[in-house]
This record gives sequence, structure tokens and C-alpha cells, in this order.
Amino acid sequence: MTQSFDAVIVGGGLFGAFTGLFLTRMGKRVALVERGHVGAQSSGANFGKLRLQGRAIEQYPLSLAAQSHWENFESLTGEGCEYDRTGMIYLASSPDGRQKLLKYAQNSLACGLEVEVVEGEALRRKMPWLAAQDGMIASCSTRCAVANPRLGTPAVVRAMLRGGGVLFDNAEVTRIAHGSNGFTLSGPTLDTVSAPVLVNAAGAWAAAICAQFGEEVPLIAAGPPQFVTEPLPYTLRPSLYTIEGDLLLRQIPRGNFIFAGYPRTLANADGEHTLVPPQKTLAGMRSVARKLPFLRHAEVIRVWSGVEGYLPDMLPVLGPSQTTPGLFHAFGGSGGGFQIAPAVGENLAYQICGRPPPVDLTRYSIGRFSSNLVVSEKMTSEFDPSGYDRRC
Ligand SMILES: Cc1cc2nc3c(=O)[nH]c(=O)nc-3n(C[C@H](O)[C@H](O)[C@H](O)COP(=O)(O)OP(=O)(O)OC[C@H]3O[C@@H](n4cnc5c(N)ncnc54)[C@H](O)[C@@H]3O)c2cc1C
Repeated sequence: MTQSFDAVIVGGGLFGAFTGLFLTRMGKRVALVERGHVGAQSSGANFGKLRLQGRAIEQYPLSLAAQSHWENFESLTGEGCEYDRTGMIYLASSPDGRQKLLKYAQNSLACGLEVEVVEGEALRRKMPWLAAQDGMIASCSTRCAVANPRLGTPAVVRAMLRGGGVLFDNAEVTRIAHGSNGFTLSGPTLDTVSAPVLVNAAGAWAAAICAQFGEEVPLIAAGPPQFVTEPLPYTLRPSLYTIEGDLLLRQIPRGNFIFAGYPRTLANADGEHTLVPPQKTLAGMRSVARKLPFLRHAEVIRVWSGVEGYLPDMLPVLGPSQTTPGLFHAFGGSGGGFQIAPAVGENLAYQICGRPPPVDLTRYSIGRFSSNLVVSEKMTSEFDPSGYDRRC
């Protein structure tokens, strides 16, 4: 028997979950279909940073709107997600990095995000735990935050269910038919569901759905390696990033330090896993020991990564399909999708309901791939084209 809804969302990551939550709040009957467990892919495996500094300037409206939702996550969903407004410090040591940091700080200020830039003695006083080199400069934002990714998506989905949405999990969509009545979806463990609206929130696997509707997207599946240390005394509240990309870490109140290592690694050929090359863990720890000598004996107790969808301009694809009425896309978080997810869901829900979204999503249209695409500098500098080297 076919179950009918106003909208079917494929993908129970944070993009799909927030879209479902906002649609139910707008009175729509929603089905969220996830092939495994909700939040078990990128949305649950990520680093948990809610970073505003260093965003592409055109992404600030979406990012700032999303941060307001994170700040009110408990009243939005009825549950906590260990949201913590820890602040964030960006550091630069090289002359190029310094220029970039000053540019980022200018962008932040222009977009309404307060940042404080410090160097020299002021930097040494503010960060006595840092092996500060001459020429080092930092910009600090108190609005950047962190949250626990393992808690976020399930909480949003439970709020959607309380609002009348329906979840089909362990239910891979393998067939999508499209006709005058909309979309009909099914799979080996999914009885037929149908709706006039289909949301493609399938993360790193979204290109297959695009292709079925004649839309090509250059989506790359990859992930940054992550490491966590044994618990140590809690000393570092803000997250710390170098603009050169050799350090990205935060400490959680339980004491463990979590690191991300760059460059990112391409996912395996099956697109289901991203391995963590051991040399990246070693390089990451060396870099930590150079800048934060108090961590030179810290033991790494676990490593992991995830499968994330990246686009060449490091911006997501959001908004209506260019070929198929009723089809909407929300994928390609490109390393920053955890932070923007609440605003992705909210603005997409507005579009689906035929209302103008609070944030203009034109910049994120899938149509940009048919014209002159700008390749982000991050895409060239933060990717390891060789992927995982099995010899090491
Ligand atoms: C290791 C790592 C660290 C990161 N760190 C950060 C960070 O600190 N801050 C930040 O902002 N971002 C970070 N990101 C990026 C962020 O996690 C993602 O951009 C975001 O979670 C994307 O959410 P999503 O819903 O699009 O994708 P996903 O969470 O991957 O969800 C997509 C879902 O679709 C499902 N699906 C796919 N195909 C089908 C199908 N045919 N049928 C049914 N279901 C299907 C999948 O099973 C999956 O659950 C990181 C990513 C990784 C991998």
C-alpha cells in the first residue's frame, strides 16, 4: 500500500532532519527516509565546530541565521546537544596566512560578526599556553561555538516526529518514479511512499539522485581525519585553528582533545568509508606538539573520519531542481554543513511552501554548474589528490 505525504525527504542527516522539522512546523506531512540510522554519516561523525570566522563572505547570511538556531537549539527541539559557546581562535604564522587572517577578520566585521585581532605581547598574554612565534597573529570570535554531533540529528528527528513527521529508517531508496502526481519512492525494505515534493538530502550520495533527473554535479566524496586523545586536565575552552591548516583542535569538558588533520582524504572507491592514513595522525600530532608543547606526550586513543560531499566552490547545493518541478536539493556541506544545517532546513522549507526564504538561496543553486564555476582555494589546498596510500 502506498503512503502519501506532502514531502518525502531522502537522507536522515542534519540537512534532511532540519528540513523535515521546519516543514512539519509549517503544517506539512513529511516522510524522512534514511537507509541506515539517522545522523550516522557525516552529521554524526563530524568535529562539531560551529565556526563563523573564515566563511566565504557570501555564506554569512546563512551561517549567522543558523547560529541563532544553534543558540536556541533546546527551545527549538526540546533537547540539548552539548551546545557550548566556547569561542574560537584563528592563528596565522606565515606572511600569506597573516594577509588571509586580516581579510577574514575584515569580512567577519563587515557581516556583523565581532572579532578581536591580537598579536605580539597581547597575544602572548592572552594565550600563555601557546608556543608563540614572532609574527604570529590571532583573531578571536566569542560567538563561534561547538556542539556534540552525535546528539544533534537524533534530537532534531525526534522533534520532527513529535510534530507529526514520519521516519522510515533502515530503508534505502533504490527506485524513484516521477509522474504527473509527483514522486513515488521504494526500496528493498521500504514500502512505497509518494509525495508531490521530493527533497534530495542524500549527502555524499546525492549525485545519483541528481543524475536520475538529468542534473550533473561534480560532487566529491572525502573526509578529514579526526583524532581524539586520552582525557587531560581541562585547560583550553576556545577551539583553535591555524589558517595554514596544520592545527585544528578543541578540548571537551571531559578533558579529551579532538583534532582534525588536513589535507582531507578521498573516500574509498565504494564511497562508503574514508580511511585515516597513519602518517596523517603522526603529522597532526607533531604539529600540535610544536604549537602546544603541553600536549607533546598526549596519547591518541581513537581515529575516525566520515564521508562528506564536497563541491569545487566549497558551497552547498540548495534549492529547486532546474529540470524537475517539485524536486529540491540540499547537499554538499563541503566541510561546513553541520554549522549551516538549521538555516538550510528552514530556508528550504520556506521555498518548498512557496514562500520567499529569509535568506536568498540563489547563490547555492544547482544551476551554477552549467556556467563558469569558481574553484575555491580551499578545494585546491585542503585536498589530498592521492587519497589513501596503502603502502603506509
Ligand atoms: C570528519 C568530518 C568532520 C566535519 N567537521 C565539521 C565541523 O566541525 N563543522 C561543520 O560545520 N561541518 C563539518 N563537517 C561537515 C558536516 O558534517 C556535513 O556537511 C553535514 O553533516 C552534512 O549533512 P548531510 O545531511 O548533508 O549529510 P549526511 O549526514 O551524510 O546525511 C546524508 C544521509 O543520506 C542517507 N542516504 C544517502 N543515500 C540514501 C538513499 N538512497 N536512501 C536513503 N538514505 C540515503 C545517508 O545514509 C546519510 O545518512 C565534517 C564532516 C566530516 C566527514
